[in-house]
Amino acid sequence: MDLEKTIRALRGRGFAVSHFATRGEAADYLDEAIRDTTVGMGGSKTLDELGLYDRLTQHNDVAWHWREPGFETLDKELAAKVFLSSANAISEDGEILNIDGRGNRLASMVYGPGKTVYIVAGTNKICPDFDSALYRARNTAAVQNMARFAGSQPCQSPKGGRCFDCRAKDRGCNALLVLWGVMFDMAKVEIVLIDEDLGM
Ligand code: SF4
Repeated sequence: MDLEKTIRALRGRGFAVSHFATRGEAADYLDEAIRDTTVGMGGSKTLDELGLYDRLTQHNDVAWHWREPGFETLDKELAAKVFLSSANAISEDGEILNIDGRGNRLASMVYGPGKTVYIVAGTNKICPDFDSALYRARNTAAVQNMARFAGSQPCQSPKGGRCFDCRAKDRGCNALLVLWGVMFDMAKVEIVLIDEDLGM
């Protein structure tokens, strides 16, 4: 994993990049940067591991469906001035990949005039190129994510453990978003990289 190459590539695509040794330092940084505003949080084990919801709610209006499920919360996430997510994979060429079942997380990452998006990721999400990043997104992140909703998906069967590109009605892999750059009219998209294994 070539971290310096990845950071250069992300900056070359117009993303802001910050880099921290620990999740605690990254959480302190985000806690200080995000103040007195509306915040939406996408479903993310990484964000959970940073304890961001409890910290940000101290001085922001935060919507997170992992704490308050329902479409009203998802709508608030989409409309928030600041949105936080993680990534399923990041290529060393600076491509950011996410797979979604409902699309709330993807929609919140790609549209919002004046919005600031933070993508928080451990360096374990960095892959050498697009193909390996796509492989990771499908066979690691998506498969682990589906364990939270285990049903008829073949990746959750005893012989699973990888993506079968299934057609299960309850599959959580209905769309892939690849960010190649900062969407029009966004205030900022910042990638917050942390030297730890985080998320799925
Ligand atoms: S497409 Fe199907 S098999 Fe592949 S990770 Fe998603 S739910 Fe599992």
